[in-house]
Amino acid sequence: MMKRENAISWDECFMRMAHVIADRSKDPNTQAGAVVANQKNVVVGLGYNGWPRGIETDELPWDREGKLSETKYAYVVHAEENAVYNSNARTEGCKLYCTLFPCNECSKTIIQNGIVEIIFESDKYHDDDVWIASRRLLDLAGVKYRQYKSVWAK
Ligand SMILES: [Zn+2]
Repeated sequence: MMKRENAISWDECFMRMAHVIADRSKDPNTQAGAVVANQKNVVVGLGYNGWPRGIETDELPWDREGKLSETKYAYVVHAEENAVYNSNARTEGCKLYCTLFPCNECSKTIIQNGIVEIIFESDKYHDDDVWIASRRLLDLAGVKYRQYKSVWAK
């Protein structure tokens, strides 16, 4: 019997997993997911964007406009940060798969936790200042990044 020829790649596998965990997000506008995997392609952590632990969905605003304390931006933990916080092993030398290019704050977390490569899908905020700063940090710190678009995701 011949081996199965259409098994998915690790990139496809982990990007699909990032989309699956993103579907846990309660954010009405952005559902982001992230997967930390080590160099042996073992999953080390999963995350999606949401409130810090112990805070219920309806306890904080999901709004995007108004003063900071009335918007989600003051409270939300990003998918990439959560994937690192939720990791069950050391993240040094790991790869991080994410549905959206990481913001500058997440890039700080990625760098400080020793992640060496980012594989992102969407880069829709490429020209925004936050993402210019993010790439600046990653470039200076020597963290590699490349785009991978899942053939499976919506
Ligand atoms: Zn972020």
